[in-house]
Amino acid sequence: MNLAIYACHPSLSKGRKFQEEESLIRNAFQRDRDRIIHSSSFRRLQYKTQVFVNHEGDMFRSRLTHSLEVSQIARGIARTLHCHEDLAEAIALAHDLGHTPFGHAGQDALNECMKDFGGFEHNLQSLRVVDVLEKKYANFNGLNLTFEVREGILKHCSKKNAQKLGDLGKRFIMNRRPSIEAQIVNLADEIAYLHHDLDDGFRSEILTFEKMMELPLFEKFFKAISNSHQLLSSEQKLHETLRLMMNSIISDLCHESFKNIKKFNPQSVEDVRGHKNIVCFSDEMGARFMEIKQFSRINLYEHPRIQEMSFQAKNIIKSLFAYFHESFNQIPDNFKTLKDQSRERAIADYVAGMTDRFANNLYKSINKN
Ligand code: MG
Repeated sequence: MNLAIYACHPSLSKGRKFQEEESLIRNAFQRDRDRIIHSSSFRRLQYKTQVFVNHEGDMFRSRLTHSLEVSQIARGIARTLHCHEDLAEAIALAHDLGHTPFGHAGQDALNECMKDFGGFEHNLQSLRVVDVLEKKYANFNGLNLTFEVREGILKHCSKKNAQKLGDLGKRFIMNRRPSIEAQIVNLADEIAYLHHDLDDGFRSEILTFEKMMELPLFEKFFKAISNSHQLLSSEQKLHETLRLMMNSIISDLCHESFKNIKKFNPQSVEDVRGHKNIVCFSDEMGARFMEIKQFSRINLYEHPRIQEMSFQAKNIIKSLFAYFHESFNQIPDNFKTLKDQSRERAIADYVAGMTDRFANNLYKSINKN
């Protein structure tokens, strides 16, 4: 690995909460990545919704395939910018561990249920999963990950919550940035979901080629591929167009980030944290990217079919929360043993960890009686 001076070096890590002996064969970030992959929360991502609920069909993305795509994109960018690939990979694989069942609808519903008890935010919950909720090590709760991976997982945070997070929360109070690797994963996440949501949206027949031609970037590559290859199937045309779009977006991001590196000339990770974001798009590509975001919101996320799924999902989450509030003894004991944990937080932890399928079945069995 050809690491730049502004990249995170495992040997200079700010360390773990509980001190551990270093591994002889894996660096600290590799070890974090391995712990994440072996966690039960990671396995459960397989049955959690990205946009289309898990039982809608097998061909759509789940949170697991989304996380793998984010990791693949982030590693590619990290390598190009001479940053630490293992760190980018670990952050990417962990970034959605705190997601509720049923995607954003599930998180909104749980946040409403928790509004008088500190709220619910999936980003903070991902950190909670790796810090305390995973319980399989003898000497500590959680996965005891390095500061750098935890910093990357915590993408957003209110100032109020940041004050409770010690060192990790400081950057939100002091308005500083995270490492370059964390900045890379942040945008890799957006690139991945905008790309795969267009793909899933087309295959669900909610989006059409005609509709997607409203996007200048899509139109440009679609026309080019249709002219040069006239006999392609629609699946091939879609894949080729999205592939070329993603390639141009990622190339732009690498180019612009290199320009910023040259301009700011950061000499350490602390330097990176003190500048404005180094990893970003050019103004031109930033505008194209915003168009795709808006397009997806209007034509996909707000589509009546998706809204109907969201409505059902919210109903399930709210019913489960109310049920466990009445019957707290039904919550498994390992969700009740944390210090300073309210009854409501224990319910939120339990419900958030469920897969779509588990939550659905539980809802059905509760409402049968
Ligand atoms: Mg994500």
